[in-house]
Amino acid sequence: MKVARTIKEVREQVTEWKKQGLTVGLVPTMGYLHEGHASLVDKAVSMCDRVVASDFVNPTQFGPNEDLESYPRDFEHDCRLLEEHGCDMVFYPSVDEMYPDGGGKTDTYVEILDDMPKQLCGKTRPIHFRGVCTVVAKLFNIVLPDKAFFGQKDAQQLAIIKRMVRDMSYGIEIVGCPIVREEDGLAKSSRNTYLNEEERKAALVLSKAVFAGKKMVQDGERSADKLVEAMKEIISKEPMAKIDYVSAVSGRDMSTLKVLEGEILVAMAVYIGKTRLIDNFMMEVEK
Ligand code: AMP
Repeated sequence: MKVARTIKEVREQVTEWKKQGLTVGLVPTMGYLHEGHASLVDKAVSMCDRVVASDFVNPTQFGPNEDLESYPRDFEHDCRLLEEHGCDMVFYPSVDEMYPDGGGKTDTYVEILDDMPKQLCGKTRPIHFRGVCTVVAKLFNIVLPDKAFFGQKDAQQLAIIKRMVRDMSYGIEIVGCPIVREEDGLAKSSRNTYLNEEERKAALVLSKAVFAGKKMVQDGERSADKLVEAMKEIISKEPMAKIDYVSAVSGRDMSTLKVLEGEILVAMAVYIGKTRLIDNFMMEVEK
């Protein structure tokens, strides 16, 4: 697997592949990779001739009091995992390579101006999705992939990227991939590493609420308020958990639902101690 640290190296390699008529898949990540990321690489390998993963902790998507500095990193481990899963090139740029003005800052952003990025995680992370769209747009311009792969674990991010691709006329197919979980149900996340033993047990309350919520909808519940209340009740039984939000929204535009119909997204963010974790389920509910 090739390790590219500069934009120039990526461009040269991708140009070479395209000359050979090969298709290119992109898997954007922030590193500290686990089986969730690996599933995206597997999907990309199955759908594209060549696969590029990016490994970059993007400063513009972190708010001032968030975990940019402490975000876990282990590039050697990442390389091993990517190579094992058939990735052809990892793009591992410095902050200055991605943001040439220095200090991880930029004056040019890609931002969706309607309500979509203001819902759910956007309520407590107001600049987050502007940073995500900006870095993903840059990665699209650098790699020029045919397809790009994102996890449904970050369901709002996936919907926002699809919207950005439509609005900015990127000719890139966005492929959503299912949530990969630990055996006991906890959604895999680089941030799980922040949890101590006691918190790790308490964190199970997220998936417990997700599974219970999903069953309620499958069993016919159509009131969004009742569903959200029931899920909040499950979470609040865990003393270490503090709810940021539990919401039932339209899977397309993130608008709040009263009636659970159509493509629904039921998403949550919950603090376990100081660690903010997210989980969700999506369903197509017949009208
Ligand atoms: P991150 O490194 O957390 O920015 O995640 C990079 C990509 O991996 C995003 O598209 C995430 O949605 C995806 N991802 C992270 N965790 C999981 C998981 N447990 N299952 C599936 N995809 C995931």
